[in-house]
Amino acid sequence: MQFIEDKHQRLKLAFGQRINHSYQTRCHNLLKLKSLIVDNEDAILEALNKDLGKSQFEGVISETLFLINEIDFTLKRLKKWMKKRRVSTPFLQFPARSYVIPEPLGTVLIISPWNYPFQLLISPLIGALAAGNTAMLKPSEVAPNVSSLVSELIPKYFSEDLIAVVEGGIPETQAILDLPFQHIFYTGNGTVGRIVMEKASKHLCPVTLELGGKSPCYVDEDNDLEVVARRIVWGKFFNAGQTCVAPDYILSTERVRDILIKNMEKALNQFFPKGVKASSDYGRIINEHHFERLESYIDPSEIALGGESDRSSLFISPTILKSTGGSPSMKEEIFGPVLPMLTINSQKEAIEFIKQRPHPLAAYAFSRNSRILDEFENEVSSGGMCLNDSLVHLSSETLPFGGVGESGMGSYHGKRSFEIFSHYKSVMRRGFFDLPVRYPPYEGKLGLIRKLLSFLG
Ligand code: NAD
Repeated sequence: MQFIEDKHQRLKLAFGQRINHSYQTRCHNLLKLKSLIVDNEDAILEALNKDLGKSQFEGVISETLFLINEIDFTLKRLKKWMKKRRVSTPFLQFPARSYVIPEPLGTVLIISPWNYPFQLLISPLIGALAAGNTAMLKPSEVAPNVSSLVSELIPKYFSEDLIAVVEGGIPETQAILDLPFQHIFYTGNGTVGRIVMEKASKHLCPVTLELGGKSPCYVDEDNDLEVVARRIVWGKFFNAGQTCVAPDYILSTERVRDILIKNMEKALNQFFPKGVKASSDYGRIINEHHFERLESYIDPSEIALGGESDRSSLFISPTILKSTGGSPSMKEEIFGPVLPMLTINSQKEAIEFIKQRPHPLAAYAFSRNSRILDEFENEVSSGGMCLNDSLVHLSSETLPFGGVGESGMGSYHGKRSFEIFSHYKSVMRRGFFDLPVRYPPYEGKLGLIRKLLSFLG
């Protein structure tokens, strides 16, 4: 597709001309990005509402304000992050100075999914711009209102030399992936993640893959189950469950499960006093394909709470299931408002259950007993972890966010976003004092080198 190649060429040439290289231009571009969000917040929230039925509150805290905070955090620290960092030099290399310089990578590609369609496109862009790159953006076609808004807004604020947006579906994404980038940042499912990695390998292009998975949530006997229920209900049904780190399933004893179900019902009634369907605070499923996928997970014989749906408005009520490991809801990542609850007899059994499955993007445990939490933290490997709450860990700029194993590779947010879009170039700058011991003829010199090294080592 020629128009995509042309856009790529412009970005590449502009990078060569260092259009986003200096500290001043990077700050200027980040401030412009902030203006884009602030000036157009209403339009962004409206597009999110059209695509996902997203409430204003959720749109602001998880998309616009989230990004504004990240830009401010970056601007405050960028000068420090850009500085070359002095490191020590081995004695044998004296006289010399050694340092590491972060330098921009070039033209980078950001491909984003539909569930937080604005935030997941712009958040990596903050890192890409802060690190001095030019960028191509590929928003998700599955959230068409946000995609077209982004492609309308970006050229109003930025030259196409710096940021180019390509809208479209699989053919466009595949055509983009044929081009050489210096980094590809992909957020989405693992199947496409594998395609991205394969395509990137042709150009030896490094990738960050932000993927998903089934994030487990263990609830211990020793707990404040009212607070636990509220925190799980909030984290699970935020954005109608379409969150990569939403608790995917609960593991608890039967006694805890039954109390939790009662408390979750109470929490839902408090959160949505006029009913969930009537509430503008509760989102909708993105499209019919995902609506059908989610319905297929709801085995009517397992429903403990909810289970209502309405295809015409893409509504699925918060649905809690009494499930087992073999239930339809346990086959793949749910990514919607369906919450299977599985019973186990002990914490050990819960940990074993989790360890037998692919590494999740997030793992949750609730307990008043810190020994139980310590054990969970030590035993369970996951992209990130949040103890005694859900979701909130990803809003911290100081915690790198990313997966491990099947849930992805690489991480970002805060300084990590700057780091993944930078190359850390190692430099040694030497003087002219010349020790002849390293030059041929080598005979008799090895012993001296060994002695010197062991003396210094
Ligand atoms: P999606 O369908 O919007 O796809 C993401 C991007 O991949 C889109 O831009 C799309 O054009 C492109 N794409 C789709 N099929 C392609 C193909 N065959 N070849 C090339 N490109 C293709 O989003 P999705 O994958 O449904 O997103 C949901 C998944 O993303 C879930 O698994 C979720 O857990 C994960 N996710 C992860 C994070 C994270 O930060 N780790 C965040 C959000 C979502």
